[in-house]
Amino acid sequence: MNSWDRRSFLKRAGVAALGVGMPAGAPARGEGATANSESSRQELSVRVDGLDNALVAQTFSILRDRIECRCATRVVAGKSDARIVLTVQPSLPSDAFLIDEAGGNMRIAGGSPRGLLYGVGKFLRTSKYNGQFLPSSWRGTSQPRGTLRGMYFASHFHNWYHQASQAEITRYTADIALWGVNAIKLSFPTINIKDWQDPEADAAIAMLRKYAKTAHELGLQFATGMNNTWFINAPQNIRAIRLPDPTGRRGNSGHPICPSKPDGLAYILENAQTFFKKMAGAEIDILMFWPYDEGGCACQQCQPWGCNGFLKLSRQLAHLGRSYFPKMKTVLSTWMFDTPPEGEWQGLSDALAKEGGWVDYVLADSHEDYPRYPLDVGVPGSLPLLNFPEISMWGNWPWGGFGANPLPRRFQRLWDQVRQKVSGGFPYSEGIYEDINKAIVAQFYWDPDRTARETLTEYIAYEFGTSDAADILALIDNVETNAALSYRKQPVDIEAAQRADRLAEHVDSRMPAWAKHNWRWELLRLRAVLDRERFVGGSLETPAAEAALLRLIEIYHCQIETDDPYHHRVRPPLRKAVSRRGKA
Ligand SMILES: [Zn+2]
Repeated sequence: MNSWDRRSFLKRAGVAALGVGMPAGAPARGEGATANSESSRQELSVRVDGLDNALVAQTFSILRDRIECRCATRVVAGKSDARIVLTVQPSLPSDAFLIDEAGGNMRIAGGSPRGLLYGVGKFLRTSKYNGQFLPSSWRGTSQPRGTLRGMYFASHFHNWYHQASQAEITRYTADIALWGVNAIKLSFPTINIKDWQDPEADAAIAMLRKYAKTAHELGLQFATGMNNTWFINAPQNIRAIRLPDPTGRRGNSGHPICPSKPDGLAYILENAQTFFKKMAGAEIDILMFWPYDEGGCACQQCQPWGCNGFLKLSRQLAHLGRSYFPKMKTVLSTWMFDTPPEGEWQGLSDALAKEGGWVDYVLADSHEDYPRYPLDVGVPGSLPLLNFPEISMWGNWPWGGFGANPLPRRFQRLWDQVRQKVSGGFPYSEGIYEDINKAIVAQFYWDPDRTARETLTEYIAYEFGTSDAADILALIDNVETNAALSYRKQPVDIEAAQRADRLAEHVDSRMPAWAKHNWRWELLRLRAVLDRERFVGGSLETPAAEAALLRLIEIYHCQIETDDPYHHRVRPPLRKAVSRRGKA
């Protein structure tokens, strides 16, 4: 509604006067301040219907926190004087929200508490924080088109997900949820664990339970994965036969198990049962079966793995899992199917046509273009299709080692291949440095027709505090150009690196303090610095490069000295960092 003056709204909202630049802690209304006094602090009164619901209460806390950390406005729970109302309106579809005006109030309504959370996300991103809070002028109803809008947090190798505090995890999961995500996935990292007696086993279960609780408190589903790979100490006589892997992308640590051997199957099911028991009360909402990387067996009885041994095992694991978690949904991944061609896709179609009731979703993707079979022939079992965008590793080694890795052009191109076909997915994430990619993909799932650039513009306004996105869009464009050249092992564009660095410096000098000190901007700024140092200056050992790498290490909670043999994959490449059991 154009006639609505957002500044006067705040005055009409019964707020004390608009104290741009006033000192923090200035008295709020009712605490000795006089309305319209220049020295008083702006106050925004919000009425929350249904505060007895834990998620509604948390949604209000998130709204209050995200506004208060961006401007001087104080958000209070009000009643008669409130001009913003948060409410649940069950007549809306569950995940949908609307933002409208009724009786002079602005209303944010969700079809459920989770829908309200998404509505608050939209409201926050489209509001402005120029010293004072200017509420969103966005009006309308929005409903997600993707049904399973996941995010896979790969919590291992002492990366950020592994090391972050509970407070950081809660905050970050909420931030991701505000973009429309409705499920997070974590895996039990058997690649690092000897057996159940290994102290790492209980630590990993505790971590999964912690993330499951965090997800559930935000109304999100918790997903985990399972396949034929269990512990490092699995007996030798039940091990799988190594698979052909001409592209080197199927992964094999050497300890997958053959489920066609009776002792192998018993070992897998017994460990799965122990796992489900240890997760009791934490509720696994979604179980995903993963054929390769890690996994697979090439023995006579198991092959072709994807439509034979893998399928039989997944069905048994689905039944076993549902005896512990009756409402559990299942996702069957086809990752690296038919590489080399073995008839796995066709075999899966044939098998699910006969008996498909135990699978809810089929997931497909690759490191590059989307597999053609489900697009050209159809999805096996006529099931909803998911994708699995790799948002973390592409053109990026160590992962996150140079700061943010925004790739909007790449993800738009890949999305255009599947836009009309998929019902969501689980982007693969190794940390927080691909936060921009997460927002882009989460919004594709919400509205397949929304472009990466539109989401990025909204992201820039919300996270970097500027409605003039042009400089930051250009900065990201230059960073992506060099990431792509670098990935293709072509000479980098030195001028693009210089432009990115100049743009970052220019933007930094004008940015509001709250955005400047936000790690999201820091990661992008440090990326520009490190691209300049390595591409223009040719070294990561200059004082500027080393300071940038050290700051990244701090933000990611990395270890300068580590015994984790895989930590170097996620640690910025600072020369003095040490890996005692792996590569430096
Ligand atoms: Zn086998």
